[in-house]
Amino acid sequence: MLDEKLLSIHQATVLQQWTLKQAIAGIERAGLGAISVWRDKLAEIGVGEAARALAGSGLAVTGLSFAGLITSRDKAAAAKARDEARRAFDDAAAIMAPSVVFVAGGVDPGDKDVKAARARALEGLAELVPHARALKIKIALEPLHPMICAHRSVLSTVKLANQWCDALKAEDVVGIAVDTYAVWWDPDLEESISRAGKRICAFHVSDWLVDTQDLRLDRGMMGDGVIDIPGIRRMVEKAGYAGYREVEIFSARNWWKREGDEVLSVVKERYQTAV
Ligand code: ZN
Repeated sequence: MLDEKLLSIHQATVLQQWTLKQAIAGIERAGLGAISVWRDKLAEIGVGEAARALAGSGLAVTGLSFAGLITSRDKAAAAKARDEARRAFDDAAAIMAPSVVFVAGGVDPGDKDVKAARARALEGLAELVPHARALKIKIALEPLHPMICAHRSVLSTVKLANQWCDALKAEDVVGIAVDTYAVWWDPDLEESISRAGKRICAFHVSDWLVDTQDLRLDRGMMGDGVIDIPGIRRMVEKAGYAGYREVEIFSARNWWKREGDEVLSVVKERYQTAV
């Protein structure tokens, strides 16, 4: 049996059904103790009220998604994006989230240069480190699936995340989020996770459906797809990770159409059988 205390519900899993307050109530109704917050849901009620609702609940906040998208070639646009990332760090501090998921940003169509986009993301990250450090917030670099490299994230592998961590030399601030959906296909995964070691500061789970119909919004419930989720969990644990397992299922065609309570009851069951 996996310890249910380490099961965290990422708000993405009930994104369409529940506001933040409804999610807090629903997760408590399910007898669970942790939530990972989707930043747009903070904006709905304001971060102050959200912080009070979370602090007044019995739930631990395990993370905030997301900050980033800082790869623009336009200097003013990139600076604006970094400012927005700093505001996301402020929000994380306000709701007592230990980390913010960092999504790098895509390729700028102006130069079609993925290498340059990666360099800009890394330079931008270096500029964000002091603010995160002052707030004691961890920046969780989340490699995303290469199919969304163009518009979402030029950071595609745990190997590259390790290289960025090496370059940034800010181990107190910068960590790595391992999301099964994004990294399962990677032949170097085991080696890269092992090298990441204590850098791993978040672990997200969902499944890859064989007949997936959308690259972002058609994630599967654990057990319904092709990912060896327990295998990847064992890799991160072997590397030293002992934190929460966040269930993060963006699912426009299935799980978002169901009652939130039903979704959480299936999550609890699959947590034991497929995580
Ligand atoms: Zn994730």
